Amino acid sequence: MRYGLLGDIHGNLTALETVIDFLESEGVDQFFSVGDIVGYGASPSECIELLIEKKVRAVKGNHDAACLREISTEFFNPHARRAVEWTRDQLDAEHMNWLSELPMVLTLPECSIVHGTLDDPDQFEYVQCTDDADPTLDEMVLPICFAGHTHVPVTIVRLLDDITRTAFTLEPEIDLSELSRAFINVGSVGQPRDEDPRAAASIFDTDTDLVHMRRIAYDISKAAQSIRNAGLPPILADRLFLGV
Ligand code: ZN
Repeated sequence: MRYGLLGDIHGNLTALETVIDFLESEGVDQFFSVGDIVGYGASPSECIELLIEKKVRAVKGNHDAACLREISTEFFNPHARRAVEWTRDQLDAEHMNWLSELPMVLTLPECSIVHGTLDDPDQFEYVQCTDDADPTLDEMVLPICFAGHTHVPVTIVRLLDDITRTAFTLEPEIDLSELSRAFINVGSVGQPRDEDPRAAASIFDTDTDLVHMRRIAYDISKAAQSIRNAGLPPILADRLFLGV
C-alpha cells in the first residue's frame, strides 16, 4: 500500500487539489489527514467535501476543535481567531458533524496518526525539538507516528543501535527499517511555515518501508486571492508566498 499523508490543510483548496492529484499520480491508494483541515484558508467546506469524496481518514486538529467550540480560542492570535469565527459561519451542519466525529488518534496496523502528540493528544502540544518528542516516542507501541501542528516537516527518530538517543533528520527519504521509532511531522499542505512556500505531503510505502517527504508547487496566487475575496485578514494571504 502507498499511504498519502496530508498535513495541516487549513481550508486551502488550491493546495489540497494539487497535492491530491500529485499523490495519486505517485500511486497513493489511501489518504490520511493529520488534522487542522479548516482555519486560515477560504475554502473550508470545499476541503471537507473533497476529503469525504476521497474517503480520507482524518484526526482532529486544534483549529477543527476550535471551530466546534470544543476548545477556546483564547490562546489563538487575533488573525487565527478571526479565521475560526469566519470558518464557523461557512460550515453547514453536515460538515460540522463530520469534523466533530473525527478521532484524536488513528491507529492503523503499521502506524499511528495524531495532530500534536501521542502522549496527550487533547492538549495539542507542539513538538519543536527532540526533547518535545520524547513522551510520544516513549508512548508509541507501533514504530511510526505521523503528526502535524507545527507546519514544519521533520522526522524525529530513535535508532535501532541506540534506542536511548533521540535525533532528528530533514532527509526527504526515511528508511524505516533502520529505525526503532520515527515521529514524522509531514508539514503543511495549506500553510507551510519552514520558509518553503510549496505544499508539503508524505508518502508512506508499507511494502518498501520507506517514507518520502515531498514538496509540491501550487498556484499560491489563486489561494491568496480567495482569502482576500473572503474578507479574511490579508496577512493570511501574504504569508503563503513566504512560507511562514
Ligand atoms: Zn495547523
